[in-house]
Amino acid sequence: MSILEALPGYAGRGSPERESEVLLSLVASGLSSLSGWWGQVDRRRPYDDRLQLGLDRLAVACARQGLEAPVGVADLVWSWCAERPMREWPLVLDPDAQADGELLLIDGAPSEFCREWARATRDLVADVHESALVNHVKDVARALGRPELYAHWRMLLTERAVLSAAEMIRQRNRFLDVPSWARWLDESYEPVPCEGTVNGRIAVCPRCHQWMTPAGGQGWLCPSWRCAVHRFGSVPDLREAEGAFRLRADLVGYIALPGRSELLLAKPLAARGARVVVSPGYDALDAIATWPDGFAIGVDVKDWRNPFLLARKIKRFPEWSGDHPYAYDKGYIAVPEDRTRGRQDYLRILRKHSTALQGQPHVQAITIEDLIKQCPDLGTPGEVTCGP
Ligand SMILES: [Zn+2]
Repeated sequence: MSILEALPGYAGRGSPERESEVLLSLVASGLSSLSGWWGQVDRRRPYDDRLQLGLDRLAVACARQGLEAPVGVADLVWSWCAERPMREWPLVLDPDAQADGELLLIDGAPSEFCREWARATRDLVADVHESALVNHVKDVARALGRPELYAHWRMLLTERAVLSAAEMIRQRNRFLDVPSWARWLDESYEPVPCEGTVNGRIAVCPRCHQWMTPAGGQGWLCPSWRCAVHRFGSVPDLREAEGAFRLRADLVGYIALPGRSELLLAKPLAARGARVVVSPGYDALDAIATWPDGFAIGVDVKDWRNPFLLARKIKRFPEWSGDHPYAYDKGYIAVPEDRTRGRQDYLRILRKHSTALQGQPHVQAITIEDLIKQCPDLGTPGEVTCGP
């Protein structure tokens, strides 16, 4: 639950108030990101994808009220944000928001109203924006014909929750032929805020490798539920916070934590001699493991508590066969073993309610541990890789 949802009078998901807040938050945070330290919106910079998402929603709101919608992002920014006060937008906002006469852009710079709205509703926009960033990275990688870029980005976020200033520079320079790469990292990490530090240090959880938060004089807390039971049991890895960057909170939950369960599978399979490609086909699956004799498996890792809800989220496996570089013999939905502990009906419920599993008998639901045990073991290590 976000901070906003905890407030009295908060409008629920899908209500016109909520929809208006999301729309305005997208536009305000998109505008804020377009301006540099000097405040002016830089017309040479590419438009932020949040503005496109805001525009799409605005077009719907305009259609509902019979208004003419902006014709593109430039029109949204320079005719709407710069010239129309909020009372002329088709939005339903709490009167206490006192938005009526406000403009989002004044003299080419985001107004104070715009900046404060973006800051106050960061949680609200995170939901929408996290997938927007993921889709954006996928789209660019696809346009360049470089699927490994997407996989490298995902792997970096999964393995490195905190980057020192020097590491950030090194990581930004990894793909100098792809200018978007550095921008993706700028969008994915944020400077470590003061409240995330104690005595100039930031802590990294030794179990899930995510950054921890200070627990008011009682050490550090890991926000990941998987670590909650071991809260004070393990010694955090302390890093210098000065100049360092940490993964954005929404991407921890959306990319890094799921990514870790994928690596918990990929690394042992590589140890058994397989060449393991992670995120093949822009996440069509989580991993393809191929042994030197040609035997290959395709795996999707799913870390859900509730098998009934998980069943609805399982997609059909891609039909890669013949001389496709990712052709596989068997497909698996693999769940961490602790999800099924004491719940013998977990996999049965999953199979019973998943039309994707029923429609693809060559795909089997299994625990990660059982899957690893079933796979060949050559005794010589293979590798985990991002590209074909
Ligand atoms: Zn942890």
